[in-house]
Amino acid sequence: MEKKITVLSGDGIGPEIVREAIKVLDKIAHKYNHTFKYTYVDIGGCSIDKFGVPITDEGMEKCKGADSVLLGAVGGPKWDSCPPSIRPEKALLAVRKELGLFANLRPTKLFLQLADSSPLKQSVVGNGIDLMIVRELTGGIYFGERKTEEKNGEMYSYDVMSYYEHEIERIGRVAFDCAMKRNKKLASVDKANVLDTSRLWRKTMHRLSEEYPQVEYSDILVDNTAMQLIKNPAQFDVIVTENMFGDILSDEASMLTGSIGMMPSASLSSTTLGMYEPIHGSAPDIAGMNIANPIGTVLSAAMMLRYSFDMAKEADDIENAVNSVLNQNYRTSDIMQEGCRKLSCSEMGDMIAANI
Ligand code: NAD
Repeated sequence: MEKKITVLSGDGIGPEIVREAIKVLDKIAHKYNHTFKYTYVDIGGCSIDKFGVPITDEGMEKCKGADSVLLGAVGGPKWDSCPPSIRPEKALLAVRKELGLFANLRPTKLFLQLADSSPLKQSVVGNGIDLMIVRELTGGIYFGERKTEEKNGEMYSYDVMSYYEHEIERIGRVAFDCAMKRNKKLASVDKANVLDTSRLWRKTMHRLSEEYPQVEYSDILVDNTAMQLIKNPAQFDVIVTENMFGDILSDEASMLTGSIGMMPSASLSSTTLGMYEPIHGSAPDIAGMNIANPIGTVLSAAMMLRYSFDMAKEADDIENAVNSVLNQNYRTSDIMQEGCRKLSCSEMGDMIAANI
């Protein structure tokens, strides 16, 4: 199979970690006789330096014309004082919007070899954590009308949270389909005791649940979810929720594993075109030192194979290779433990590729 991948390495450690993900993809291509064609596009600070904008129109077209997009990370102190309209993060929002990426998938998996890194007690995480948060990405309060004005002699602000039924239905389908491919358990998170948008959310999810009788479906309030994620994270398989709740809960969940360099993510559209990236930022403090952990990016590439290219076996190969490398006690410095051997970023990429 031949696939076109637009690569947005970005800033800081972005180019270092993306290089390792591509090393691993090339190994997969060789093993399964696929061809991955890479087109590199500047994004974020490096694009601002070269072109004065965080992504050019031409770069955006290359994203739209690809079969999928692989991103490192953008930003850094050098561009913190740029005007808001050309900040590095603007490019990410623009790509999400232009590609119609309405579904954000964030798996949170605790690798048992790294259980010591979790801030939770062994009695809580001992059985492992393996959950997927499906977050709606292009609606809700982040995209609603907002205003700050003077009213009744003082300042006054509002932000509107709104959802159409079709927006809820399409993210709901992504979540039910995802649950079908995992342990067939779905928790829909809302605040239906207070919000009208949540009541519509719940009604729509219930309607969808009738189409997926194999999925064990439940509703849970967002405040209770925040608590349950700490108390008993193993109870969850797939969680689906609206934009702002998902933003907050996915950060909370990712911290349960204690290792930000390990976590991948996918942003999906209504076609097979998606964008795949680690959840961390550009880590300017360690950029250029070849010590970053590339595993989050490598696992993002695995998600790309699974969700955009329908290459489940190839994705399994990458995930199994990561697991093997950890079992062989190889670590990057962020996840280093006593008795293990420390690898650089590029050595970790070599080791994962060698295990495929
Ligand atoms: P960060 O995630 O870049 O770094 C937080 C800490 O985690 C740092 O100590 C860093 O060294 C460490 N870290 C992160 N990734 C690592 C990895 N792969 N291996 C080893 N250690 C790793 O968050 P920050 O410092 O708050 O942000 C730095 C820059 O990244 C900012 O400009 C921010 O706006 C940007 N950012 C970008 C994205 C994105 O591109 N999607 C996301 C978050 C932050």
